[in-house]
Amino acid sequence: MQAEQIIILVTPIFFALIGLEYWVGKRRGRNTYRLNDALSSIGLGMLSQVVGATTKLFTLGIYVWVYEHAAWLPLSSDSVWVWVSGLLLYDFLYYWHHRFGHTTALFWAAHAVHHQSEDYNLSTALRQTSSGWIAGWIFYLPMALIGFPPLVFAVVALIDLLYQYWVHTQQIGRLGWFDRVFCSPSNHRVHHAVNEPYLDKNYGGILILWDRLFGSFQDELEAEPCVYGTREALRSWNPWVANTHVYRGLWRKMRSLPSWSDKLRVWWEPAHWQPGEAAPAHDAFDPYKVQRYDPRVPAARQLAAALLFLLLLVGTALFLWWSHQLGLPAKVLAILGLVLGLAGVARLCSAPGPASDAALTSAARHP
Ligand SMILES: [Zn+2]
Ligand SMILES: [Zn+2]
Repeated sequence: MQAEQIIILVTPIFFALIGLEYWVGKRRGRNTYRLNDALSSIGLGMLSQVVGATTKLFTLGIYVWVYEHAAWLPLSSDSVWVWVSGLLLYDFLYYWHHRFGHTTALFWAAHAVHHQSEDYNLSTALRQTSSGWIAGWIFYLPMALIGFPPLVFAVVALIDLLYQYWVHTQQIGRLGWFDRVFCSPSNHRVHHAVNEPYLDKNYGGILILWDRLFGSFQDELEAEPCVYGTREALRSWNPWVANTHVYRGLWRKMRSLPSWSDKLRVWWEPAHWQPGEAAPAHDAFDPYKVQRYDPRVPAARQLAAALLFLLLLVGTALFLWWSHQLGLPAKVLAILGLVLGLAGVARLCSAPGPASDAALTSAARHP
């Protein structure tokens, strides 16, 4: 069975849990969902899967090639210890991939998509990048070099990804010792927050022990309620804008710099790096003054957006189920169709007129 097919099979569970989280939030008077944001996040997850099904010939292909030509000790997928150590090693490499994803502009440009939502709920978990395939595979080559079979790699990667779903919620509080050993709702809320003490913390996928080991752990503080999103807010529901937002900013910065060494450094330094500046001025940023992007549109527009979205969801599911039998042109067409369709949903969720301050709500009003 293909990884995309497993995703399709667990999708009803994803949606059932989203329904449950919404219901619990409503009952508690602490709803964390907005239709526009949830459609944007889930749509970006659909696009990420469709792009992933198209690019895995490249990403998994590199892994298989390295495994077949340079594996130090081909390991057997019959041994349970190969699976356990494979998952552990994958989680360790994921920690470093994720850490570079925040501290290096090239990798942040891809990973930022996961952080752009100014809400934090289970739909945020599905919000994934569509450009991770360009360079993300580099971090996992040590597994191929050691000799973990491609099947073991693919399965533990899926386990690591699926584990992280449930931690994207504000409805589960602190969990005691669990918060200090495993990635959990509390410590992953910290990871998604833009508050000063929470920046660049808690990268762990399954184990948060990596963060405690390498000095990037931060507990959730009662005096510092999390405010979610990115400091350079996206202010768009469009999937193309979401996926290219940081790349375009870096490209503009690169073109504005005269020196070739600085042009290259743009991609390696943190995204906020400027030549000649020792440290960015973070002090002026007040997370509680952030105005969330939230265009108000008539109910009929929202209904049309939801219906178009459902149509795209069914189309995406059918595509992913059969994608391993499709050729490259059909896959590229599917990507284009989905980008256009989701751009349509985004347009329906955006105010018909020019953006105004009425399109923004205060983050501080929400938990
Ligand atoms: Zn992250
Ligand atoms: Zn996350």
